[in-house]
Amino acid sequence: MKVPNILVKSLLSVVVCSALLSGEIISKSINTKKTDSVTSSTKKVDKKHATHWGYTGHAGPENWGLLSDEHKLCKDGKSQSPINITKSVTVQAHSLEEIGFDYKTSISSVINNGHTIQVNFDEGSSITVDEIKFPLIQFHFHTPSENQINGEHFPLEGHFVHATKDGSLAVVALMFEDGLENPFLKKVWAKMPKKGGEKESLDIPASEVNALLPKDKGYYRFDGSLTTPPCSEGVRWMVLKNYTTISKEQTKEFLDLFEHNNNRPIQPINARKVVY
Ligand SMILES: [Zn+2]
Repeated sequence: MKVPNILVKSLLSVVVCSALLSGEIISKSINTKKTDSVTSSTKKVDKKHATHWGYTGHAGPENWGLLSDEHKLCKDGKSQSPINITKSVTVQAHSLEEIGFDYKTSISSVINNGHTIQVNFDEGSSITVDEIKFPLIQFHFHTPSENQINGEHFPLEGHFVHATKDGSLAVVALMFEDGLENPFLKKVWAKMPKKGGEKESLDIPASEVNALLPKDKGYYRFDGSLTTPPCSEGVRWMVLKNYTTISKEQTKEFLDLFEHNNNRPIQPINARKVVY
């Protein structure tokens, strides 16, 4: 399940422009620029990416695998994300372990990386699965949802991205369904930078992150990939079975910022099964 070292290296070099952007990498690149005269609280995020990719036109998901050799898995991979979670691919496990959530640090910043809005956490939060502790790196959003449940999209899907030092990845996905205004998103949306490559400080305590998660943390589990180039595989995916809400206005606010959807289309399930 581990991502091989060579892959980690290429992942780390490309991930700078990916929606699965590491907060650590971002903050390092910002810290080296402290000598720049920054007059507002908005800081530029260093964008050193090799290949331009996006969600529309020539650089869109259909072509990601052709844009660069480093993105080959986007077209050749056999365990790609997202997927449609349907009855025919799910299997009930005898005892699926609980996700060991240990979210205890605050959110300290929000970034617009050009592909999504991402919030970064102070170090110290994690989940434990398969007896492995996966530090929490960041949380970001896709609209509409990337994964589907019984062929249905949700208006928004949030991805909590966790990574070990050796590059093993685990993503917890939280679906947002149409409903009441979400107080957590209200705080994030109020501070989300309008332009790609910008960062704002944002202070949300761990208690509000935990309150966002459903009480019943049952989940669907499967092997998958990053949903953005380089589409690296070996990612442990856990899609929570219970949802929170987002108002129609909040979904529109996110969409208006990017002016297009930022979801990768559903990928073939191939030989995989989803356990729950
Ligand atoms: Zn994502």
